[in-house]
Amino acid sequence: MSWFKRDKGDDDKLPQLGEKERRVRTEGLWQKCEGCRQIIWKKDLEGNWNVCPKCGAHSRIGAVTRLNLLFDDAEFTRHDTALRSSDPLGFVDSKPYRERLAVMQEATDLGDAMIAAEGRLAGRPVQICAMEPRFIGGSMGSVVGEMIARAIERSIAQNQALLIVSASGGARMQEGAVSLMQMAKISAGLMRLDEARLPYLSILTDPTTGGVTASYAMLGDLNIAEPGALIGFAGPRVIEQTIRQKLPEGFQRSEFLLQHGMLDAVVPRLEMKQYLGTALRFLMG
Ligand SMILES: [Zn+2]
Repeated sequence: MSWFKRDKGDDDKLPQLGEKERRVRTEGLWQKCEGCRQIIWKKDLEGNWNVCPKCGAHSRIGAVTRLNLLFDDAEFTRHDTALRSSDPLGFVDSKPYRERLAVMQEATDLGDAMIAAEGRLAGRPVQICAMEPRFIGGSMGSVVGEMIARAIERSIAQNQALLIVSASGGARMQEGAVSLMQMAKISAGLMRLDEARLPYLSILTDPTTGGVTASYAMLGDLNIAEPGALIGFAGPRVIEQTIRQKLPEGFQRSEFLLQHGMLDAVVPRLEMKQYLGTALRFLMG
């Protein structure tokens, strides 16, 4: 039998991939769009900053990708990378908080749920803090609070605008009241930024909820959201159960909030940088 000839019947003898193996081999190459439910080649999605090329739905992106998108030439300097939570409550739920932090730090290569960075946006030096949604749900604890507080100080010292990109489930329960105190601490800092006549632009992405919405995410001189983002304080299920009423269509999504005067704009991800550049030129001259 020649090397190149193969009888039709031989195919039967080739090992057939089981359903499970087939799934394993294609896993990671394709992704189902949450918007149109179509299967999209992952590279196509990533090449479009995770905006579905078919329906325009915005999938979540991490902090590094976000900063690459916003900063000129994707160049930026990180600050406060060594800040770590001290686990002030010695908290244990299904596992010790310390352990949870270590796992997250390993998985994301970050110290906590935020990257504080400095660089240029449309040629203008700015401070941008981007939250990492994968890090314990992008929750806000003492480290996120301190990073923002320090970014505010840098903004004031260097006469620069501050931008915060939120992607968060809210205050981090493993730090209890310490997390809640960050709301007041950051709000006070933002007031000092205001007194220094420097703009703060808040960018709300999917999801922005809980204590983050209840503090800095809604305190921007401009509050700008990505399309279709879930933005709210309590989740829709909790509200529905509490008031025992059916919630309207699109409740707590960006477009709904814009319609009801809670946001200044809804801007697609691919137009965000240009929009922010224009806003900063308008606000700072
Ligand atoms: Zn889609």
